[in-house]
Amino acid sequence: LGRKINSAFTELTKAPVIDEKVLDSLVREICAALLASDVNVMLVQKLRANIKKNVNLEELANGANKKRMIEKAVMDELYNLVDPQVEPYKPVKRRANIFMMVGLQGAGKTTTCTKIASFYQRKGWKVALVCADTFRAGAFDQLKQNATKAKIPYYGSYSETDPVAIALEGVEKFKADKFEIIIVDTSGRHKQEVELFEEMKQISAAVKPDTTIFVMDGTIGQAAESQAMAFKEAADFGSIIMTKMDGHAKGGGAISAVAATHSPIIFIGTGEHLQDMERFEPRSFIRKVLGMHDMRDMIEQVQDTMQLGDNKKLMKNIEKGQYSLRDMYEQFQQISKMGPLSKLMGNIPGMPAEMMAGSEQEGTKRIKRMMCIMDSMTDTELDGDDKPFENVNRVIRVARGSGTTVHEVQEILTQYTRFADMVKTMGGKNGLMQNMPTDP
Ligand code: GDP
Ligand code: MG
Repeated sequence: LGRKINSAFTELTKAPVIDEKVLDSLVREICAALLASDVNVMLVQKLRANIKKNVNLEELANGANKKRMIEKAVMDELYNLVDPQVEPYKPVKRRANIFMMVGLQGAGKTTTCTKIASFYQRKGWKVALVCADTFRAGAFDQLKQNATKAKIPYYGSYSETDPVAIALEGVEKFKADKFEIIIVDTSGRHKQEVELFEEMKQISAAVKPDTTIFVMDGTIGQAAESQAMAFKEAADFGSIIMTKMDGHAKGGGAISAVAATHSPIIFIGTGEHLQDMERFEPRSFIRKVLGMHDMRDMIEQVQDTMQLGDNKKLMKNIEKGQYSLRDMYEQFQQISKMGPLSKLMGNIPGMPAEMMAGSEQEGTKRIKRMMCIMDSMTDTELDGDDKPFENVNRVIRVARGSGTTVHEVQEILTQYTRFADMVKTMGGKNGLMQNMPTDP
């Protein structure tokens, strides 16, 4: 299916004339992909109408630019589906921020509570968990276990059966102890039942959450829309977390839930463990749902973040599938001029996670250090693609010259090889770059 979408965009790129027919077939392919991903049918119809309305073929200038604009119009329309343009709640330092989790049983609330708690704790917030699930046997034990593992203070009871009472006690206790983020885990039911919604409302009225987060199982497909609407009505949540996006979730559920409730997805759960949670990123999500080519995604990201457009020489080289150490040096130069670094680094494909670790200053330092090492390379070494560093004496010389270690120099070379291989795949006669729409 993903291949279909890719080929639809390729057709668009290849087509000599862009007319209604070409546009129609593109839109048809995309709608088919969305439907196959369990996106709500009505939503897909609306999308189709919007695209047709917003892309005015007559008004568009001719040439490659036109293709690019169509592609952009279509993709923007898709991004809008998962980006309701609503800012999620931002906790405030040095005061209690109450988060309340709601969702059906098994959606992943308890697991997600600990993930969020740990997320904020790592960022230096004082975080605690409250178990207000008295419905499911063993609920408190589960939260206790998770919390202990993550070293997060928790509150709950084995004897109290009133979830409202526990929630309130827990919140009051942690408020008094000056906790900054207090996460209240609630019980679910197997179905959307009156009792569940009643319980949610009572807990909410008691603890007065600053934000309510709806936790939804990402694998439920077409049922997503009605479930999300029901919870929105009953609990008026501010944001959504989709869980189990590591499994067979096709993504349509997420799209339908956002579109139905105009609430943003803040995180996605990608596994059972504490660290298996990612920030939700609308653009890459849509591309994944459509099964669009990863490489293509990468090229766009490289273009966007590295502002390759500004560096014509580099762009030409990449198109040809060539990439020298000097190209890498120039990219680093650009990065160090830009910023915020950590964010940019995250977007550079192939960039190892270690490089992004730590603060922004640390990242900048690391890049500067890499550039400093490359400063000790000769012009031939920087420009040559005949692997000058197969001669280990050169590596040693560069390490000495830059006051670093052989290991560090080798790391840079590994990094370079990774980039260069990627460029080779992207560029060249048969490379993906050939299918990239470029501005005239
Ligand atoms: P709750 O009833 O809403 O509190 O749901 P739980 O937190 O108890 O989770 C139900 C099940 O889903 C557990 O087995 C979790 O390990 C699992 N789970 C939760 N989130 C994820 C996720 O993002 N990915 C996967 N694969 N499993 C998850
Ligand atoms: Mg639970």
